[in-house]
Amino acid sequence: MGKSAWDRQQQEVVWVGAGAGVLPAGLADGRYGCRACGESLILKGTKATSKVQAHFAHRTGEGCSRPEREAALDAEDEVVIQLRDRIRAMPGVTVCTTASPGESETDPLGMPPAILVAVRGATTVVIEAPTGVLPGPETVRRRIRAVRGEHAGAEHVWFLKRNPSQFAQLAPHQVKLREGKRTHERVVPNEQQQAIAEVGGHVYWLDGKVVLVPYGIRRFRHPVQRGQQWTDWPSWRSDPRDDWLISKPRPATDADSWGLVPVAFSSLTATRGAFRPADAYAVMDELYTVQERRFAWRNKQAREIYAAAHRSEQAVEPEGTLSAAHTPMPETSGAPAAMPAHAFSPAPEPDSPPEAASRPSDASDIAAAAVDVPPRPAYPPTIPQPAPEPRPAPAGTPRSVRWWQRLRLGKSG
Ligand SMILES: [Zn+2]
Repeated sequence: MGKSAWDRQQQEVVWVGAGAGVLPAGLADGRYGCRACGESLILKGTKATSKVQAHFAHRTGEGCSRPEREAALDAEDEVVIQLRDRIRAMPGVTVCTTASPGESETDPLGMPPAILVAVRGATTVVIEAPTGVLPGPETVRRRIRAVRGEHAGAEHVWFLKRNPSQFAQLAPHQVKLREGKRTHERVVPNEQQQAIAEVGGHVYWLDGKVVLVPYGIRRFRHPVQRGQQWTDWPSWRSDPRDDWLISKPRPATDADSWGLVPVAFSSLTATRGAFRPADAYAVMDELYTVQERRFAWRNKQAREIYAAAHRSEQAVEPEGTLSAAHTPMPETSGAPAAMPAHAFSPAPEPDSPPEAASRPSDASDIAAAAVDVPPRPAYPPTIPQPAPEPRPAPAGTPRSVRWWQRLRLGKSG
């Protein structure tokens, strides 16, 4: 038995049961269409004396020809309806209704309706909570366009599930934060998720008591500049040129993967909690600061290794020309055996902060070597530096928790 139907008159999805409003019973001139098979439905069991619960029935009496699709739609709707009812009970809510922007009977979106919510004194929010496989990217874009068209200025918030269809997990990566090393999970964004982020939508994954907030990761290779050597770095197993660039507070379109900052969904009371995306943005700001230091440190290291290598060349070949310091060094040269080991900082790690590299002894060694140190290229080099982006929160309340960040999804609540 179906709980929902496409209402051809109002052009929206309707449900039976509490909150569905008064719908005419019976065939109602073919008003109701099955969302799974498209057949006209009959609304039954609406009378108070009815022995069965209200439901939409197929005319053949044999049920839907696509029962699995019908059940999946019902299950997805259930999550949305529960969420809608929970939001309705929140203080300050002036409008809370389901809507299906961009939905069409002939070309169904294949996703549950959204929840349109207005709260006194806050921006209107359109909430999506699809639990199944997201429809194709063009369909998701159709929804986004329709939301923007019908509810200009509204925030579009997507709560996604940590299931294989919505969470393409990659190996995690380690990041350095003030509090120490942390492991952040990573995902490959699918086209649908990219489409959401592209237009400023919010994508969150709910994972029990943790909300995962994405930032962009773009892998790149540091360009080798004049007077730099990026090979034969002591204690480096990987290529020091390999690095990554963060995009925040939401992933940029050129990100090749998304890192995820876990933010606790902390309980305010037994039935209410909240998560603060601002906490995630603060972590992203820190990642950016560490990144800038990392870039600077590696560039400096490349210059120092180059300088040290050339100094050692000079020592090995007394008649060597100093002007060689100005020509790029072939990767095969460098006389590693003659290279004074103490000229290098010990065992730097890819994320080493710059202070680890510029120990006074090293600096004085290099200064004493009187090698013609090539002029330092101006920092930053050719790596694109994203300008710090403003936080998406409306002015005046940058760090406050917005009402929809108090939503607890799932069975509890
Ligand atoms: Zn059907």
